[in-house]
Amino acid sequence: MQIGVLALQGAFIEHEQMIHCLGASSFEIRQKKDLDHPMDGLIIPGGESTVMGKLLHELRLFETLKEKIEKGLPVFGTCAGLLLLAKKIQNDNRRHLATMNIEAVRNAYGRQLGSFYTEADFGDRGRIPMTFIRAPYIEMAGKDVKSLAQVDGHIVAARQENQLVTAFHPELLKDLSVHRYFLDMI
Ligand code: GLN
Repeated sequence: MQIGVLALQGAFIEHEQMIHCLGASSFEIRQKKDLDHPMDGLIIPGGESTVMGKLLHELRLFETLKEKIEKGLPVFGTCAGLLLLAKKIQNDNRRHLATMNIEAVRNAYGRQLGSFYTEADFGDRGRIPMTFIRAPYIEMAGKDVKSLAQVDGHIVAARQENQLVTAFHPELLKDLSVHRYFLDMI
């Protein structure tokens, strides 16, 4: 299995390591020609959604990636990746790939003091550790979106068909549950 990892900025190496631990291969997407590589799934890492959104356009990756996701390419977005996939960001007038029927709140736990660790149930995979770093949460999810995890009454992981998002960073801990879930989706 070949997983493309958007490698413009942010925590992409950690995602690749998790993918390798699970026996799949990864390649980095930095420029348009990288999209010619066979791709079974795509990971959009955490980082800064405004920067990544801008780079997607500047590097002419935006249209092709959006089209691939809309056609069913399995995609997993963490944190800023969730914001890039959200149809709407309630406290930001930008929208990016906007392929997923969710409304997110950016920096929902506060800008500076918003980093914390907790544990919660994730789908049918039981309790998993979760690290949040200036994270968003999902304020509204469409009928076609399934909530997979909640923390303090807010949705922090969800799936809509081929699209999986987490507000937290599973790639920064040792637990492989979320990446395994993503590979199972593929
Ligand atoms: N706060 C960042 C944003 O708004 C997301 C933070 C992260 O990806 N850890 O894009």
